[in-house]
Amino acid sequence: MPEAPGESKAQTTQTKAAPTKTTETKTAEKKTKTTASTDVAIIGAGPVGLFAVFELGMLKIGCHVIDALESLGGQCAALYPEKPIYDIPGYPRIQASELVERLGEQAAPFEPVYHLGQRVERIERGAEGRWLLETDGGLRLEAKAVVIAAGGGAFGPNRPPLEGIRDYEGKSVFYMVRQREDLRGKRIVIAGGGDSALDWTLSLAEVAAQIYVVHRRAKFRGAPNSVARLQELASAGDVVRLVVPYQLHGLEGRDGQLEAVVVRKISGEERRLEADVLLPFFGLSMNLGPIASWGLELERGQIAVDPETCMTSAEGIYAIGDINSYPGKLKLILCGFSEAAMAAHAIHARVRPEETLHWEYSTTKGVPGQSSSGQS
Ligand SMILES: Cc1cc2nc3c(=O)[nH]c(=O)nc-3n(C[C@H](O)[C@H](O)[C@H](O)COP(=O)(O)OP(=O)(O)OC[C@H]3O[C@@H](n4cnc5c(N)ncnc54)[C@H](O)[C@@H]3O)c2cc1C
Repeated sequence: MPEAPGESKAQTTQTKAAPTKTTETKTAEKKTKTTASTDVAIIGAGPVGLFAVFELGMLKIGCHVIDALESLGGQCAALYPEKPIYDIPGYPRIQASELVERLGEQAAPFEPVYHLGQRVERIERGAEGRWLLETDGGLRLEAKAVVIAAGGGAFGPNRPPLEGIRDYEGKSVFYMVRQREDLRGKRIVIAGGGDSALDWTLSLAEVAAQIYVVHRRAKFRGAPNSVARLQELASAGDVVRLVVPYQLHGLEGRDGQLEAVVVRKISGEERRLEADVLLPFFGLSMNLGPIASWGLELERGQIAVDPETCMTSAEGIYAIGDINSYPGKLKLILCGFSEAAMAAHAIHARVRPEETLHWEYSTTKGVPGQSSSGQS
């Protein structure tokens, strides 16, 4: 399903998914059965996972990066893209989205393969000390080492607690819109009161047959000009109808095809809205999800690591950034960067056992495409 006015926007005022994708990197197709093999599989394209691409690349180690989100940047992009960060060394102040862009740029010369919009569900031991990863998008990736840079876990949409909703997901209930045209002529229920609900209502009003905007309050939280435009469309009464203050209560349909959405007031009063599609926009949440079942030693919900190498309790699996735990751990981006460097050096010995690692500064080595004198 479609993605649009802009991209998959997160649904609360705090959660916005930045559409950051580096153009110079290869992005693998989603939802197709793919088998691939690499030196290192990085789980998580947050700031720390992205910097790990660079640190591994500097040691001539290639990698694939998988993220449940459709875009790079983890929390920085999804939760606070427009906030300034003040504690990145060398930047007295940098907007979170700009940091992500620069990290993507810094990783690009090493040509990582990104598999975005896919959650890693399983990790199993393969032959000769390798690991096999499987995603919900059909990717099977074999790697000599795994770096888990999964932050607080995978981001996913908040699902409304409606009986049987999973049967409709992907058929007539969608948490994001990929192509607006797919919804042309449809009767749509949009649920939520934030920017995503508003932006999508304004955009889809141009193609939909009918849009019911269901919100539990009469007041919307989005940008003032979007709220004003919504009110205008609702007053015109052609396509957009406000259904407030109501909450989603039930779904009616068969074989995954919605026929109606039942909404309810706190007083118990119900309405039945005939609809082909439901778009619930209730924000994103993070969930450790499958990681908790991978058999790694955990400490209060974080993955315990050896602070010298960031290796977990499983040989060849490393954890860096917000997801890991060791004495004195600080959940800061700059600490994650340092962990990425330490893990990369430890991984070198594992994936290039035949090579001796000669210590060199980046000023000596340079990066692909740039000479050490700074010329591109
Ligand atoms: C509002 C706010 C302000 C902040 N301000 C600062 C600040 O000023 N300075 C600072 O240093 N830190 C700050 N932080 C914290 C900082 O954002 C985190 O420390 C940082 O994002 C951690 O980076 P990470 O790469 O480890 O994880 P994340 O940024 O959380 O990225 C992890 C990624 O892994 C993906 N993932 C997880 N599980 C899976 C899976 N199974 N399959 C596929 N993908 C998966 C997730 O979708 C996510 O994209 C702030 C945080 C917030 C919320």
